[in-house]
Amino acid sequence: MIDYDVKGHLRQILDDIPQGVRLVAVSKYHPAEYIETAYEEGQRLFGESHEQELRRKYDSLPKDICWHFIGHLQTNKVKYIAPYISMIEAVDSLKLLREIDRQAAKHDRVIDVLLELHIAEEETKYGLTPDDCRRLLQEGEWREMEHVRICGLMMMASYVDDESQIRSEFQMANNLFDELKAAYFADAPYFCERSWGMSHDYPIAIEEGSTMVRIGTAIFGPRVY
Ligand SMILES: *Cc1c(COP(=O)(O)O)cnc(C)c1O
Repeated sequence: MIDYDVKGHLRQILDDIPQGVRLVAVSKYHPAEYIETAYEEGQRLFGESHEQELRRKYDSLPKDICWHFIGHLQTNKVKYIAPYISMIEAVDSLKLLREIDRQAAKHDRVIDVLLELHIAEEETKYGLTPDDCRRLLQEGEWREMEHVRICGLMMMASYVDDESQIRSEFQMANNLFDELKAAYFADAPYFCERSWGMSHDYPIAIEEGSTMVRIGTAIFGPRVY
């Protein structure tokens, strides 16, 4: 038994999310029991951001769980998750994309990925600016990669109270998605994912075209680091 009402919170979120938007339950830093509780409610898609923590959970939990890697992924860790990961959401360099392709090939898999877009005003080392995204796709090496499939974009809005700023960042991401879709993926139905929206901003994200929300705190409670 766990002392936090994961089931109640999960049900509330699921009621809140319209059809066509998928929920990635972000379970990082939460114990496996929390995931099992959400699993009993039917949740099968979980997000983790540390390779070793994910591996422990993957080993001990049911194998029909889909795991999304949502954090910054070092290239030397790709080999550990390549056998089983469902999606790598935060691809922020060509180097990482190459390594995913290489490791996926070893396992005879095609790994779905998202390009991580950096729009938020916060200083972070990670993510591609809109121009980086354009350059990466323009340059074209990705077209030769038979073991990765670029399925869309992922982004985090600035962590601010100003709703209009958050909304305008989601709109920028959505506009870039449309631009890239038209330029490179018009014939690729799998390029359809817009992964934005977290506990504090997912209702705005959904209004602004999100297809996948990544929610942790609002389901599992505060993380203990
Ligand atoms: C931790 C994390 C989330 C979930 O954040 P909450 O505020 O707990 O919902 C979503 N996306 C990414 C990339 C994260 O690292």
